Amino acid sequence: MSIILYLQGRNGHFTPHQSGWVSFASSLAEKTSNLLTLLVRDIQVDQATLLGSHGAAKVVLLDGLPAAYDLTTVARYLTAEYSAEGGTLFLFGNDTTSTALAAMSAAILNTPMVTGVFSTPTSFNPLVIARKSFSGKVISSVKVNSSEAVLVLNAGIGEAKPGSSAPVIETKRAELAADIGFKLESQQPEDGKQLLTEALRVVSGGRGMRGPEFWKPLEELADLIGAAMACSRPVSDEGWRSHHEHVGQTGKVIAPELYIACGISGAIQHIAGVNGSKVIVAINKDKEAPIFEVADYGIVGDVHTVIPALVEALKK
Ligand SMILES: Cc1cc2nc3c(=O)[nH]c(=O)nc-3n(C[C@H](O)[C@H](O)[C@H](O)COP(=O)(O)OP(=O)(O)OC[C@H]3O[C@@H](n4cnc5c(N)ncnc54)[C@H](O)[C@@H]3O)c2cc1C
Repeated sequence: MSIILYLQGRNGHFTPHQSGWVSFASSLAEKTSNLLTLLVRDIQVDQATLLGSHGAAKVVLLDGLPAAYDLTTVARYLTAEYSAEGGTLFLFGNDTTSTALAAMSAAILNTPMVTGVFSTPTSFNPLVIARKSFSGKVISSVKVNSSEAVLVLNAGIGEAKPGSSAPVIETKRAELAADIGFKLESQQPEDGKQLLTEALRVVSGGRGMRGPEFWKPLEELADLIGAAMACSRPVSDEGWRSHHEHVGQTGKVIAPELYIACGISGAIQHIAGVNGSKVIVAINKDKEAPIFEVADYGIVGDVHTVIPALVEALKK
């Protein structure tokens, strides 16, 4: 029997969240005396081998799959592979495409699906698992009345443990007649910057930054520590920054190792998108700002003096 984890890489590489998911999945496999098999696409063989070494027994490189947006064809193929591998739990990460594939796979397999998984199940027989809902404000305990399930894992779970296994690597070429009924005519090229949802460090600005012309020190700080940029919703609504950077309940949900919130009050809708971060640092001139309730480290001060000072210190 196998626990199956599906992962889609980017530009041939895997992301830090994905290595955490492999370690998490491998701990489930160990607890249930199963083996962990990875179904991966768009990841080069050396990267897939390294990814698999985080606890997988086998890595199957899926070749010849149609584009990821052909969800129906991909989900049909994945579920056939899951069944062929003797799967009992089918795991997906919580990126947009994988979540959609998880839902389709659950429908095809006629199995229950649990999203928002952030910790190890409290029981495996029956499967009882905690999930976060309502932007993380509610934690519910879900009992799955089935011997199989599809689970969607939150970003940031699992401690990456490279070298804990030496997986068998297998390549499978899909022979599929993919007719999805529409044609992709153009695609925005990737600009080589790291994706906000994959970044391990994020520097984020709020309305306290005062205006787009004051963002330069924030960008310098992000460059110095290799961080992606983010912002609060009013900032993107005002057009100070692109909507791609907006995090929160109505924006992107991120779980970096380090989140630096600059001039952000810490409204619940903002925190909903960043409360999976391992360490939160807040810089705010108001010591009563709610962001300090969730921050691990806080600096009470003016962003326009604190950030340049941080930049200078880091340069030294
Ligand atoms: C349905 C709904 C969904 C929402 N979704 C989101 C969402 O997804 N993401 C999101 O971010 N918001 C969301 N919001 C908005 C949210 O409620 C807050 O209004 C918003 O997060 C506030 O943004 P802010 O912290 O940048 O601005 P403000 O609340 O204006 O806070 C600015 C902060 O900067 C500090 N400050 C000011 N000047 C300085 C200075 N010089 N130095 C240091 N600190 C300074 C202030 O003390 C203050 O704490 C949503 C609201 C609703 C109703």
